[in-house]
Amino acid sequence: MADLRFSALREVLSRKPVEIKYPSEKVSSYFGENVFDLPKMEIYLPRETYYAVKHAIDRGSIINRDVADKVAAGMKAWAMEKGVTHYTHWFHPLTDTTAEKHDAFIERNDSGGLVESFSGALLVQQEPDASSFPSGGIRNTFEARGYTAWDVSSPAFVVGRTLCIPTVFVSYTGEALDYKTPLLKALSELDSAATEVCRYFDKNVDRVYANLGWEQEYFLIDEALYFARPDLVLADRTLMGHQSSKDQQLADHYFGSIPERVMAFMEDFEIESYRLGIPVKTRHNEVAPNQFECAPIYEEANLAIDHNQLIMDLLKKVARKHKFRILLHEKPFAGINGSGKHNNWSMATNTGVNLLSPGKNPKTNLQFLAFLVNVVKSVHDNQDLLRASVLTESNSHRLGAHEAPPAIMSVFLGTYLTGVLDNLAEKVTSRRMTPSEKTELKLGIGKIPEILLDNTDRNRTSPFAFTGNRFEFRAVGSSASCAPAMIALNASVAATLRNFKIDVDSLIEKGVKKDEAIFQVMKRYIVESVNIRFEGDGYSEVWHREAESRGLTNIRSVPESISKYLTDKSRKVLVEGRIFTDRELESRVEVEYEKFIKKVQIEARVLGDLAINHIVPTAIQYMTVLLDNVKSLREVFNEIEYERLAGARRELIVSMSDQISLVKKLVAEMIEERKKANIIVDVNERALAYEQNVRPYLDNIRYQIDKLELIVDNEIWPLPKYRELLFTR
Ligand code: ADP
Ligand code: MG
Repeated sequence: MADLRFSALREVLSRKPVEIKYPSEKVSSYFGENVFDLPKMEIYLPRETYYAVKHAIDRGSIINRDVADKVAAGMKAWAMEKGVTHYTHWFHPLTDTTAEKHDAFIERNDSGGLVESFSGALLVQQEPDASSFPSGGIRNTFEARGYTAWDVSSPAFVVGRTLCIPTVFVSYTGEALDYKTPLLKALSELDSAATEVCRYFDKNVDRVYANLGWEQEYFLIDEALYFARPDLVLADRTLMGHQSSKDQQLADHYFGSIPERVMAFMEDFEIESYRLGIPVKTRHNEVAPNQFECAPIYEEANLAIDHNQLIMDLLKKVARKHKFRILLHEKPFAGINGSGKHNNWSMATNTGVNLLSPGKNPKTNLQFLAFLVNVVKSVHDNQDLLRASVLTESNSHRLGAHEAPPAIMSVFLGTYLTGVLDNLAEKVTSRRMTPSEKTELKLGIGKIPEILLDNTDRNRTSPFAFTGNRFEFRAVGSSASCAPAMIALNASVAATLRNFKIDVDSLIEKGVKKDEAIFQVMKRYIVESVNIRFEGDGYSEVWHREAESRGLTNIRSVPESISKYLTDKSRKVLVEGRIFTDRELESRVEVEYEKFIKKVQIEARVLGDLAINHIVPTAIQYMTVLLDNVKSLREVFNEIEYERLAGARRELIVSMSDQISLVKKLVAEMIEERKKANIIVDVNERALAYEQNVRPYLDNIRYQIDKLELIVDNEIWPLPKYRELLFTR
């Protein structure tokens, strides 16, 4: 059985970097060449059509049939020049990947031949029979039809010889079946709520965008080693494997020189990304061996999310070409760092102001502080919702582990801003402030910019940190779509801003001056949300105790966390905020429970199989060697010498035998627990049973197997070991 392991190792050692074709032009000249973006629309569309589309992108207006027909014709002409034969609506079902169903442009013509055709109707809407996608009971198979509809705000692009049209995916009865629909709603709610607040400060603002810059971490594993690990193939993570004697202790991988084969892979996918208009900028080695990161320049959130989905796909495809496999799982290897996807998030106005960047004068700084305070308050009020949006089965292995943010939500602001907020809360009074008090406050606020930007003190342990001109939501998992996190965050902030507007307006109605009203509401929000602010070490035990005494929640159970989508608080944000209907929200929660159950179920099956069919036989084989050895000792030596020599070996045989029995017993128990869980009808309770009764076996069985790995002859161990997975190049 160890054949596969050793032949894989030999294969890896013989590999050379794959030669790639470098474009002869500079990046800026081929950037976006595979995207039907505005510059191309300007060339391929009639003038009025171009402006109609541009208006739809900028203002969210609807495109009529005539415009759609003209766009389709222009798109087809552009695509066919690139050799494109097919088109697909590209959408984000409730899995972590994207979906596509390709149709050729061909139609029958009158004389029985073929002609390439693509109408506005086909551009705008497609009806995939998508009954196999998770819908949480919204769609039964007898009413399986859903339809996809063009998202004008994200441009069409070409992959290979297929034109991909970003779309939303909804059921025939109008309910969202994807991530994009609620995301667009959340972004639009944020837009209107933030715009209203901006107008206190600047009447020229009529649009607010959310920006997102994600940082994608991943592991690369050689393809041969990957295929020698059924757990990686089927469960995306190693379910067993003793820690390597050396892994990341020396921090010698982080920011180290990038290995040659990896470099070729990175350059290759970056070139493809540029062609697709994804502005990837940063690449580096991460902390764990074979762990890397890529990050683009930030973009409008909807586009950034499409680009992240696209790049995850691209990473997988290009990795294969280079005989690697990419692991996007949050914790592919126990005991070393896992992978996250930091979401750098900010809000910007149509007038070009970053609302999370300190301004140049007291007025813009007050605006900045108002938005800052609203975000802090929003995280405070919606900590459970934000956690629910990121705490998936796979991410639960990472959150709260030694290198990743804990499952406690907190906000880091840095010393300076902490001081500013505390000062504001202290100085603002509910009585009328004297002119000199106001001047003092405003002067204090006016000073922010220079000091802050040099002072971007970093706190890597915070799940939600302010980093100078944006917040970094660090708890998002590397394999996840950014959409759930961005839906929760933007919807929450929209809800808080809406309340802020109501609160300020009601003071103004009572005769309080506008700036004083803003100060007073800010003060109240600062005081109400003070508990969520934390500047210390988020990984420490002390913080866990302190967070508890502050009344912050610390939920590590995935099913429990998922259930928080349905609290009154969350419904206020998501249902009253018009992001989901009750039915949509409930069905989504059901999908999340199901996903959790299935992931644990798959892991349990894979581990059971490996334990019984790979590990136990190998351990028995080695035990037989020891037994034979003991028998031979008995033949060769006299009684006294035999006792002295065989003692340790006999003990080893006994303890191995016990361990083998234990592994078999634990696997049998785990199967029993699965059976019991599977018949529970209520999906929430079934998920809880998987969490409480099945999941612990994964660790317990693994523990025994990892001990066996240290005992059994290396020559016969069937699976590549951690040191081989992480260090063979
Ligand atoms: P670090 O690892 O130091 O946090 P990176 O350079 O890896 O930083 O990534 C930072 C990300 O934040 C990039 O995607 C960058 O474009 C993005 N970013 C920078 N400014 C903003 C902003 N105002 N809003 C949103 N994202 C931003
Ligand atoms: Mg980074």
